[in-house]
Amino acid sequence: MSKEKKKTGMYQNVMKQFNHAADVMNLDDGVRQILSATNNEIVVHFPVKLDNGKIKVFTGYRVQHNNALGPYKGGLRYHSTVDIDAARALAIWMTWKTSLAGLPYGGGKGGIEINPKDYSQNELERITRRFTYALGDNIGPNHDIPAPDVNTNAQIMAWISDCYVSTKAPSDRHNQLAVVTGKPVGSGGLEGRDRATGFGVVATIKSWSALKNIPLKDKKYIVQGFGNVGYWASHFMNELGAHLTAVQDASGSIYNENGINPEALLKYSKANDGAIKGFPDAEPIDSADFYAVDCNIAIPAALGNQITLNNVDQIKAQLIAEGANGPTDVDAETKLLLRGVDLIPDILCNGGGVIGSYYEWLQNRRAESWKIDHVLSLLQEKLDASFEKTITAAKEYNTDWRTAAYIVALKRLELTYKERGVFP
Ligand code: NAD
Repeated sequence: MSKEKKKTGMYQNVMKQFNHAADVMNLDDGVRQILSATNNEIVVHFPVKLDNGKIKVFTGYRVQHNNALGPYKGGLRYHSTVDIDAARALAIWMTWKTSLAGLPYGGGKGGIEINPKDYSQNELERITRRFTYALGDNIGPNHDIPAPDVNTNAQIMAWISDCYVSTKAPSDRHNQLAVVTGKPVGSGGLEGRDRATGFGVVATIKSWSALKNIPLKDKKYIVQGFGNVGYWASHFMNELGAHLTAVQDASGSIYNENGINPEALLKYSKANDGAIKGFPDAEPIDSADFYAVDCNIAIPAALGNQITLNNVDQIKAQLIAEGANGPTDVDAETKLLLRGVDLIPDILCNGGGVIGSYYEWLQNRRAESWKIDHVLSLLQEKLDASFEKTITAAKEYNTDWRTAAYIVALKRLELTYKERGVFP
């Protein structure tokens, strides 16, 4: 097995999911071949001067899977697990996600194989700007639009946008702001984009709760990953009266059967270099036992392949809501479904992020600035529609929700290829 496959295994996972859905819906063979390959895979090596004066060469990736429905769209991740295999898998998931949400986008993803904690803010800024410069016109508001992902945030998007825009002719600069989404509001960002993914995760949990007639008040939930997605999902879950009983992040796992206050935990982690470890109002637990915690709902909101055959039998939750991309591998999912556990698949559950990004892109292109209540109501509408379409397809094809969500996404792509044909 290659080094990259050992690192995440996400690519095998997304392809198994795709092939299964393609079989169930009997996807056109030509379209299946097209979607099995990525359109472009860009690898850039670029030098950066570190604070100590030494030069270091970094490797960055951008994989563009498919753009039949519009420009490539997807995040940039700064993490030690980033490689071509991970970027491919995540780009492919983006194609399904944007198609399912009915957006005019395709799928892309990328990043740099670094641990940002190893670098100062000034170094991160230089790494980001030089990565942007190396990508050049491989990204752009009409071509490929990155966004935040693991360990990248609004600040990093602001640097990318500033760097990209600065390379354009002065008369053309104002048209280029939409090159990335997830920017700070003062730099063309959208009010509410910060919470869009977590808001969307909870919107889909609310749809599940209505469908199954299971009230969320006083339900216990656990969250893996307490970054952008994990925090905001917790914030909105607590607003509904649910109790956060365990949290895990890269620093460790904590538990309190009476509930952990997400706002207090956010304050603590901000003061503690982003780590939850040592939070005084909870006890530490072994990270291997995290998914064994008694709860009704588990929200994985960190990395891929976290729920596997190694821990699936421990899981107590009756619902897995996939805030992260690819957190559940295919074998574990098969077991969960056999046990009657519900699973809201990533391409539906965390779709609020890219939907929010779409509104930021529209806002920039129209030179407008939208208000948060308007944004959240648009998000709710689109997510409700995606949930409904998924449930309908699950009934029609007598299949699970992930396969159903794939079928909705793949049907839209299949129709496009059938109508347009293939150039020349
Ligand atoms: P983030 O960088 O803000 O937070 C990541 C969190 O995961 C941190 O708390 C980190 O400590 C934790 N983590 C890292 N390694 C871990 C490990 N081995 N075990 C447990 N926790 C670990 O990232 P984010 O933006 O919140 O993204 C989280 C997930 O959601 C990713 O899978 C991402 O692709 C997905 N996602 C993000 C968005 C978005 O808008 N940011 C949109 C859709 C999907």
